[in-house]
Amino acid sequence: METIINEFKEIAANPKKQLAMYKKQGKKIIGVLPYYAPEELVFAAGMVPFGVWGSNNKNISRAKEYCATFYCTIAQLSLEMLLDGSLDDLSGIITPTICDTLRPMSQNIRVAMGDKMPVIFLAHPQNRATSYGLKFSVNQYTNVKKELEKITGKEITDADILESIKIYNASRKARREFVKLASEHCDVIKPTVRSAVLKAAFFMLKDEYTAKLEELNQKLAALPICKWHGKKIVTSGIIYDNPVLLAALEDNDIAIAADDVAYESRAFRIDAPEDIDPMMALAKQFANIDCDVLLYDAESAKNNRGEFVAKMVKDSGAKGLILFMQQFCDPEEMEYPYLKKALEAAHIPHIKIGIDQQMHDFGQAKTAIQAFAESL
Ligand code: SF4
Repeated sequence: METIINEFKEIAANPKKQLAMYKKQGKKIIGVLPYYAPEELVFAAGMVPFGVWGSNNKNISRAKEYCATFYCTIAQLSLEMLLDGSLDDLSGIITPTICDTLRPMSQNIRVAMGDKMPVIFLAHPQNRATSYGLKFSVNQYTNVKKELEKITGKEITDADILESIKIYNASRKARREFVKLASEHCDVIKPTVRSAVLKAAFFMLKDEYTAKLEELNQKLAALPICKWHGKKIVTSGIIYDNPVLLAALEDNDIAIAADDVAYESRAFRIDAPEDIDPMMALAKQFANIDCDVLLYDAESAKNNRGEFVAKMVKDSGAKGLILFMQQFCDPEEMEYPYLKKALEAAHIPHIKIGIDQQMHDFGQAKTAIQAFAESL
């Protein structure tokens, strides 16, 4: 078990090494920015989808020429990595446009990188579950597919996509299972380990990743369920993979029971159908995602999302919630009052900790985590 965990840790900490390895194997690699790009198409094309979610180890310098200062660091540092050559091994990049930062960012990336690699634009529909929304998604995904075919030089068949969907569904299932097992065995799967295991998924071919994760899951399932004497919480937000923050949770005996995090469970909650046209299946997979800060909810007045998260806290046996709020993230900030309302109505204590990927001083965050742990 330790060997598998160390492999995941190594991959999560060194994505660049992983990129170079795939390149050396002669594979083409496609960068995939957040959120909800149909990665299955990249895999179906025989290429490697590679997550690009900023970096904890870089400073924004070159990207300043393109970005307003109020862009979140995830977007700015993703562009920084493209500009400083860290991602030169990519054969192309998909730029989804779900939020008000990513929309202009897709154009910044096109201007900055268009001569260097294909930049594949992807717009998701707001009304994603209606017949015209599904049609729109299929249309957009068809364009992505065509661009990928140009890069790989071969046709992506329906059979290729269906096979890829099956592999991705298995991967999503294994990750959901891991999240459950991580809570039951939180003495072994501490926050740093949990984060590394889930993070590695963004830098590995999904069949390779899933095989390793299923092995880990099997070994975890064979252990007796731990009697945890610390506190258990649910995490929420976009991404909180900073080792210092994760260590602060561990230092205060905090385990993660479940998460409502874009980089983690929000990315693998919903599977794609395997018994319909594969392009429509991908559109349906996106349409069926719900209770997500970034996606339109026609019935938002009912606050289904807030209640969904509150229920998650109760069902997981957690005693509270920590919201890691990305600085300058409009969708998360605007959603927060509604989440707060639902948590308070359910008598769930929570704290909101402001973070970004260029954070160097963790004093305040550590104190807030410690005080929260004590209050629980
Ligand atoms: S962190 Fe927020 S603002 Fe930045 S890309 Fe994600 S959703 Fe958009």
